[in-house]
Amino acid sequence: MHLPDTQYFLLFYPIFLILIGAAFIAAHLWFKAPRYLLWMGVGCILPSVALAAQTLMTNAQLRQVAPWFALFYLGGACAVAHGMFLKANSKTNIFLTSVIITTAMVLLLYFTHIDDQLWVRIIIINVVILCLEGLAIPTVYLLLKKTYPLEKLLCFSYFSLFTYGFIRTLTVIIYLQKVQHIDLATTRWWMMMIAVNLLLSLCFAIIVSAVAIREKFNIINEERLRDPLTKLYNRNGFLEKTKDFFNKLQPGEVYLVMCDIDNFKNINDTWGHVAGDSILCTIADMCKSNIRQTDIIGRFGGEEFVILLQSVDDESSVTLVDRLRKNIEDHIFINNIRITASFGIAIIIDFSQLDSALELADRRLYNAKNSGRNRVCFN
Ligand code: GH3
Ligand code: MG
Ligand code: MG
Repeated sequence: MHLPDTQYFLLFYPIFLILIGAAFIAAHLWFKAPRYLLWMGVGCILPSVALAAQTLMTNAQLRQVAPWFALFYLGGACAVAHGMFLKANSKTNIFLTSVIITTAMVLLLYFTHIDDQLWVRIIIINVVILCLEGLAIPTVYLLLKKTYPLEKLLCFSYFSLFTYGFIRTLTVIIYLQKVQHIDLATTRWWMMMIAVNLLLSLCFAIIVSAVAIREKFNIINEERLRDPLTKLYNRNGFLEKTKDFFNKLQPGEVYLVMCDIDNFKNINDTWGHVAGDSILCTIADMCKSNIRQTDIIGRFGGEEFVILLQSVDDESSVTLVDRLRKNIEDHIFINNIRITASFGIAIIIDFSQLDSALELADRRLYNAKNSGRNRVCFN
């Protein structure tokens, strides 16, 4: 053991990062957390293991293991960059990464066993870490432009790791030329470098956890608001989204449409529930493709769909709904089944009218059924 007693506390940081990394990996392996978390975990553990071990070594001991320890640092940088690529739904350039790592290892072996130069080795490791992290910079920049605030913070945190790597490399080049004669692990410079590095990595790891937790909450929330069969909003989801819809309302009229498949019980009785379910999904897709992205569609249960849509006036809303009715009528479903649907439409001014509009649209749907089905009723 080589550290002065007072500086053993420095080991707490890498150990803490190793534990966070292990938690990320466990979250992926056992709790189905996204894949980028696995790589972030590897990225936390590898350099921390090397850092903790190196903190305890003298220059002489470092020299013996240097090139192989470098693999931990380079592997860590690769893993974090790969994690960021995955986070941004992008791909790592495996060929370029392999070329960079192989070149680095050849140079490190040369400057260890043939021409022993600690300073050059430190420069090589720092420059290569910078290159590996730098590969993800354009992708992270694109992610930054299109994402929500917490993910933006993740991007900034990655940029700060990269910027710190850049400053560290410059510092090594300018100030550390006499490193051969310094017992590196005990210098104030080395301590400070480790402290800043670990602090930034710790912040990064905490932000990664926050992003992953937020994603999980989003998924749970979405599932709570969706119908598992058609993936349309369920009653709760429809109500929640309708509230948001009226808060951000653009100029134009809003209509509530109730849709009910005609004689659907016969379909189930004749073809079975599996065919019935498949038809429900197809109709859900047809409804979605006939309305705008900002309109809202839900399945309130059974074979009833509710749509909240914005349109210029009554006539164009009826035209839109009738086009959907015609699409359903003309479509040939699974097992060559043909079906029709009936619709009731009611105008709605604001969220407080939702219940009365639902009631009115339902009454008009009932009229459509009584008038022979396969029609749109607006009175
Ligand atoms: P109408 O034209 O008057 O609406 O007749 P209908 O047969 O469609 O209406 P009814 O309310 O009598 O029957 C609705 C049927 O919808 C009953 C049930 O078998 C079927 N259904 C409800 N939910 C589901 C579901 O999730 N999957 C499947 N396959 N069928 C469902
Ligand atoms: Mg029906
Ligand atoms: Mg019904």
